Amino acid sequence: MGIDWGKVKEEAVQILSDYIKIDTTNPPGKEMAGARYLKGVLEKEGFAATVLESQPERGNLICALKGKQELPPLILLHHIDIVPAEAEKWKFPPYSGEVVDGEVWGRGAQDCKSLGVVELLAFLLLAREGFKLKRDIVYMATADEETGGKWGVGWLFENHPELMKAEYVINEGGGAGMIVGQRHVYTCQTAEKGICWLKFTFRGKPGHASIPHDDNCVVKMARAIERISSYRSPLRRTLTAENFIRGIAEEQSFLRSFLMRQLLNPLFSRSVERRIPDTGLRGMVGAILRNTFVPTVVQAGQKTNVIPSECSCQVDCRILPGVDPEMIKAEMRDLLFSFKDYEVEILQTSPASESSAENALYHSIEKTLKRLDAKAKMIPTMLTGATDSRFFREKGTIAYGFQPMSPTANLSEYLSRVHGHDERISAESLLFGTRVLYEAIKDFCG
Ligand SMILES: [Zn+2]
Repeated sequence: MGIDWGKVKEEAVQILSDYIKIDTTNPPGKEMAGARYLKGVLEKEGFAATVLESQPERGNLICALKGKQELPPLILLHHIDIVPAEAEKWKFPPYSGEVVDGEVWGRGAQDCKSLGVVELLAFLLLAREGFKLKRDIVYMATADEETGGKWGVGWLFENHPELMKAEYVINEGGGAGMIVGQRHVYTCQTAEKGICWLKFTFRGKPGHASIPHDDNCVVKMARAIERISSYRSPLRRTLTAENFIRGIAEEQSFLRSFLMRQLLNPLFSRSVERRIPDTGLRGMVGAILRNTFVPTVVQAGQKTNVIPSECSCQVDCRILPGVDPEMIKAEMRDLLFSFKDYEVEILQTSPASESSAENALYHSIEKTLKRLDAKAKMIPTMLTGATDSRFFREKGTIAYGFQPMSPTANLSEYLSRVHGHDERISAESLLFGTRVLYEAIKDFCG
């Protein structure tokens, strides 16, 4: 038999380029056009895909490849919508789908239309060869991820829960390969932090600003902001963060490995973290080891000569698995113990989520990676933001962020193009991603 991988690569490039040409910027989304395009590709291969409209022009697509149904389905998920792009700052227009020097350019090339293409091709390759699957494979493309998933995965769970039943989900948020020493380290996203957005309101004595006094709420708030932003929450170990740190440490020299492991030691964690030279990595490591607090929105005063009686500050707090909002409120009260006349409220919250790495799908992916790349090693990782995986994990489904991509020595540069300028992906990465997913699913579902 044998698959012509050269042809698969061409197919992947063509489908992604066409998919990028459909502008699904959210807001407003208009994902229906993307859903119709994918439906067309599936129909050509003899599939009848279902398209569900959650709002006018907000489309969600679902298509199943039937297996023997001995086990619950595996869902291959991606989102159709993309974030806005500042077109004038791009080298090639963001909705051109331009193919230059073996790379496909455009908004969504990384996040996450390419995942949609890689999953689609893995799905079609299995169908074309009539592979006997133990479970259904469900291809799912959804709306609205970039603004919280209300009209996409959230809507589907509310309105079509029967379609959302699955044991496993493969979604965005991991899979990038990085060159570490002699190894190619690939991440598999097994956890995501949650949010707990806070608002602090400070009160003081109003008055004429020509006469200073000691109870100015603006000054009080400024001191509180300084305290909150310089605060570091205690180390909180999670399975995902531990395995991530250990996995990277194993690839270092003896001394560096020893130091890296101290990140997991409450006594030395902070001082080791401060010494990580790469600022991107330092920030990321810090954020997966503790809850974080970043002041973002400040509202105070209306006129230069009036001391206001009230002002407020919003703080973007991100929480680790196992942390609930009441714990955060208590932590903030302890931190601001010396402050009077203020209150803290929770504006919005959603829990963190984590899936175990101890199961058959994880092991199939790991095994496949090693077979296709002799230098491969896979480690679990935690996303500091959130994806639609959280909806599934809430229901007990195991969800992984995994889009395998060819390894790079400069991962932070690669990741900076997600939601940034000049987003693009190489044809090699599209092919590699397709191959790994196709082989891993075969191993897992055969
Ligand atoms: Zn995304």
